[in-house]
Amino acid sequence: MRHTFVIRASSFVICLLVSLWLNVLSAAEPLKPIPDHLVVLTFDDGNKSDIEVVAPLLAKYGFGATFFVTEGLGAEKDKKNFLTWEEIQRLDKLGFEIGNHTRRHIDVTQQPRDQLDADVGYIDEQCENRGIPKPLSFCYPGYRHNLQAVEVLKKRGYKFARRGYEPEMKQELEGGRGLAYDPAVDHPLLIPTTGAPGPKFNYDDFVWSVDQARDGKICVLTFHGVPARLHPWVNLAPTEFERYLRYLKEKDCKVIAVRDLAHYVDPTKGAADPYAEIQKRLKGAKKS
Ligand SMILES: [Zn+2]
Repeated sequence: MRHTFVIRASSFVICLLVSLWLNVLSAAEPLKPIPDHLVVLTFDDGNKSDIEVVAPLLAKYGFGATFFVTEGLGAEKDKKNFLTWEEIQRLDKLGFEIGNHTRRHIDVTQQPRDQLDADVGYIDEQCENRGIPKPLSFCYPGYRHNLQAVEVLKKRGYKFARRGYEPEMKQELEGGRGLAYDPAVDHPLLIPTTGAPGPKFNYDDFVWSVDQARDGKICVLTFHGVPARLHPWVNLAPTEFERYLRYLKEKDCKVIAVRDLAHYVDPTKGAADPYAEIQKRLKGAKKS
């Protein structure tokens, strides 16, 4: 009798534990409210400085970031100025996010759907072959984007994609101020850049960009090389970059990679028409 009771009691405990565990597994993490001073750092093009300058400084300050990689700007031959795949692997191991910037860095609005899909898929495969998690974040080469590209990314399981600040604002070639990302209205596959360093972007522009991160809006910064040896129009000196990081620390900013947006934003909840908000802004700008 006592034996039967022990068996029943232990079965009950096991069932309880299993069901609790299943609950833990199935429960989606609730979204956190978007805090003020939430800042996303992104680094385009796979410059060598990502591993030589940027990653060590970010580690020093404990900040997250996304590195958008491509083979399209000379990475295959120019190992001096661009990351190798081994270095990209190291960035992943260091805890940074590796994002997709396409195989050939071609203007996606000029590509047939299949060609773009193949160029995106190529980076996905390279990551898979090297044990790097499948990228969930994308960056449009040359800031060019269209609905077809959004659809391709969606189909490939991309959650977030960052653009520049066109068409709402004129793209400044040498850096400038953009738009804060407002997850309440911006589609997650068309996240705008809030600030992009370059010769025409100074410390005040950086402070302004960070200050946009409030009332539910997020500051998304787009960097290129630190320094950008081959592309002086998007250059940022390492000393200035560290000055930026010190400011982010002083202001107690939460500094994250693009993928970490998933803690605050549900990427499945974008508007049915991804371009609706952009069109609205353009119409508003015409009226005023
Ligand atoms: Zn690029």
